[in-house]
Amino acid sequence: MRIDVLTIFPEMFGVLDVSMLKRARENGLIEFYAHNIREHSVNKHRNTDDYPYGGGAGMVMLAQPIFDCFDYVKSLDGRRARCIYMGPRGRRLDQKFAEELSKEERLIILAGHYEGIDERVMSLIDDEVSIGDYVLTGGELPAMVLIDCVSRFIPGVLGSSESALDESFSGDGLLEYPQYTRPADFRGMLVPEVLLNGNHAEIAKWRREKAIMTTLNNRPDLLEKAELSDKEKAFIEGIKNENIP
Ligand code: SAM
Repeated sequence: MRIDVLTIFPEMFGVLDVSMLKRARENGLIEFYAHNIREHSVNKHRNTDDYPYGGGAGMVMLAQPIFDCFDYVKSLDGRRARCIYMGPRGRRLDQKFAEELSKEERLIILAGHYEGIDERVMSLIDDEVSIGDYVLTGGELPAMVLIDCVSRFIPGVLGSSESALDESFSGDGLLEYPQYTRPADFRGMLVPEVLLNGNHAEIAKWRREKAIMTTLNNRPDLLEKAELSDKEKAFIEGIKNENIP
């Protein structure tokens, strides 16, 4: 997948040169480029923002540098790109949406700043995407969140033993069960016995119960859409009024 980001702070994206995303880029699974919108401003001072029509607080990003930057970036590769604007009004990013985006050959992501962008820029955009119901100072961190999340669904990005399909919010729609590693006794805190006995059916049963209990405790809203058997639904009813560890 090729990803181009349009930003006024390209230097922020050094974070994509670390760990798994660095390896994915080195292995040719992801191509990533950050483009400075400012370089496309025809303004004498290379401005990228101006006062909002109608008054009000803050500045708005100018349409011209963004349109010209888009034209330039699109011309770099003949493949059609899905164009995304990171913005709090948009569709909330989740695993399902990230998986959908991971199937695209090309993404162009616009990171806004100040009070946002001139609305006419939206004519270039396929999806406005939010990373949550809160407001950040710029779209760079949201763009990095989206890139990280989407990349995990690209075959080969995760190690062979890991899968983005077997995690919280994926597959059955539950949160993940608790995990432990060595030693079995750390400062008197013991790993649950069931994980030590090698009985895979018992381990799977324990993990499923813990996943259900964690979801019930932390995000009961997810249970409405989770894939649950009748027995599990009864199990939930049974523990609803108990103390959840
Ligand atoms: N005035 C805008 C509003 O009220 O919706 C918020 C603008 S915000 C201060 C500046 C930029 O940060 C936005 O243009 C957008 O690119 C980015 N941004 C802020 N919060 C975001 C969120 N939750 N998800 C995605 N992008 C966000």
